[in-house]
Amino acid sequence: MADTFRAVLISRDDDKNQTVEMTEMTSDELMDGDVDVRVEASTVNYKDGLAITGKSPIVRRWPMIAGIDLAGEVVASRNEAWKPGDKVVLNGWGLSETHYGGYSERARVKGEWLVKRPDAFSARDAMAIGTAGYTAMLSVLALEDAGMTPDKGPVIVSGATGGVGSIAVSVLSKLGWDVIAVTGRASEHDYLKRLGAGEIMDRAELSEKGKPLDKERWAAGVDCVGSHTLVNMLAGTKRHGAVAACGLAQGADLPATVMPFILRGVSLHGIDSVMMTPERRIEAWQRLASDLDRTKLAEISSEVPFDAVIETAQALIEGKVRGRVVVDIG
Ligand code: NDP
Repeated sequence: MADTFRAVLISRDDDKNQTVEMTEMTSDELMDGDVDVRVEASTVNYKDGLAITGKSPIVRRWPMIAGIDLAGEVVASRNEAWKPGDKVVLNGWGLSETHYGGYSERARVKGEWLVKRPDAFSARDAMAIGTAGYTAMLSVLALEDAGMTPDKGPVIVSGATGGVGSIAVSVLSKLGWDVIAVTGRASEHDYLKRLGAGEIMDRAELSEKGKPLDKERWAAGVDCVGSHTLVNMLAGTKRHGAVAACGLAQGADLPATVMPFILRGVSLHGIDSVMMTPERRIEAWQRLASDLDRTKLAEISSEVPFDAVIETAQALIEGKVRGRVVVDIG
């Protein structure tokens, strides 16, 4: 007999009206995959908020179990890389888009999508990091690949109180960078300083159209918001500096000129966490284990019960959530 489990299902009717509900399913309803995972924890990322509110078209197959991340334990495997009892993490790979996601007590996935959870992290720690934290680390790795080191000058991080931003600020400060944190929340300056920001910049300074080239102020950047903010970040980057672009919280547009690229040799690095190679994922998770201060992770994250995940995703899109939220699945 198939076992039953709870899952958050996003459905839509013939008129494309979306509904989201906690529902009960059976394991024979799961999609194809060669590893079954008992999900212990998930998290609420910006993309989860978009999927649950229907604000952007994230879901591409209906109905869909939400949740782009999961951490749990293998309970059955037909993949020789995994065996029951293995502790695993999964970020992206189309979860909540084309494959049933992590807001579910049970998941059936492809073994190739899984990463061994570093011993340093519990399932809850791994989800306090989640796609947001792993994307922050992919951004740091991209800057390092571009030759960026703390002696070259400060690093600027936009969307700093968000999930990606909070972890980027924490990791970069631990690595010795002088961090400029850009935020719209005046009430969170102390929080950002506790994470290691040396300077706080009001997001209004970067959010409007600026000059094609501005005074050189930082060597590197991690941008979570896109649009004019990213353009102004590029315009203020020092000669031969680098910026990693990972988000679009302000907008998906890029109203830029080529001036920073051709007159200062600034480079722009795109970050795609969803389809990142398995090797880079393992590297990112290992670097998180060594370069993310656990006390800061505790400062950044809060936890909600599984039942509260839908309302939390809505609150995140309304800008009412600070840092990272772990969802306790079981
Ligand atoms: P959060 O909602 O946690 O953080 C986003 C932050 O952006 C907010 O906290 C806020 O920071 C800032 N922000 C929000 N609205 C605006 C605005 N209109 N103008 C300027 N800043 C704004 O999201 P995440 O950290 O989870 O994700 C950040 C971005 O990265 C999202 O766009 C997400 O889609 C993207 N992302 C991309 C990935 C990839 O693979 N490329 C993977 C993961 C995330 P503050 O209040 O401090 O100003």
